[in-house]
Amino acid sequence: MRQVRIIGKEPSFHLGKIVCIARNYAEHIRELGNEVPDRPVFFMKPASSVIGEGERIVIPDFSQNCQHEVELALLIGRPCKGISSADAMSAVAGYGVAIDLTLRDVQNELKSKGLPWEVAKAFDTACPLSDFVAAAAVRDPQNLAISLRVNGEVRQDATTALMLRPVPQLIAEIAAIFTLEAGDVILTGTPAGVSRLCSGDRVTATIAEVGSLNVTVA
Ligand code: ZN
Repeated sequence: MRQVRIIGKEPSFHLGKIVCIARNYAEHIRELGNEVPDRPVFFMKPASSVIGEGERIVIPDFSQNCQHEVELALLIGRPCKGISSADAMSAVAGYGVAIDLTLRDVQNELKSKGLPWEVAKAFDTACPLSDFVAAAAVRDPQNLAISLRVNGEVRQDATTALMLRPVPQLIAEIAAIFTLEAGDVILTGTPAGVSRLCSGDRVTATIAEVGSLNVTVA
């Protein structure tokens, strides 16, 4: 079972489910030609899709368009179900940097047929994830510079202030559907600038006060 750790703290957590939101930044919704959803669109990645610092992304051979999505990751520190947004921040144990890798060609085909997205979102290596920093070390998760570079070139450069659904509301909405447990992770959506990754690319995702994550494409 994969472990996730908060830097400088013991013990580590068993990594549980990873709940993700689609379409949480307006500019990214526009760049993909999607509509702002009335209700949030959630999906999950399995723990088996996670890789860590320095590891390699393996793009499945049935996709020609694997795209990066840098996202602020929340580590849940205690069980919660039906939590109010006013109490939601007390469930966050730490913050991390994640890349929600997406096989855009596969996802578009599945979307057009009304089929679920797992093949496009949950494949092995689809979730590069950093170690976490303790929640107390981050002053305001809603005001963090978030960026991603490929081979040193900036592709995504935004701030978490642009989230349509802020972190407490997101946790409350997710916990109303799925019981959250210690070790679960929430990915909070990606800002604009997603683009295709190629073999040999070096990817660096950075979130101010949280840290960076470096991975390469096999
Ligand atoms: Zn995403």
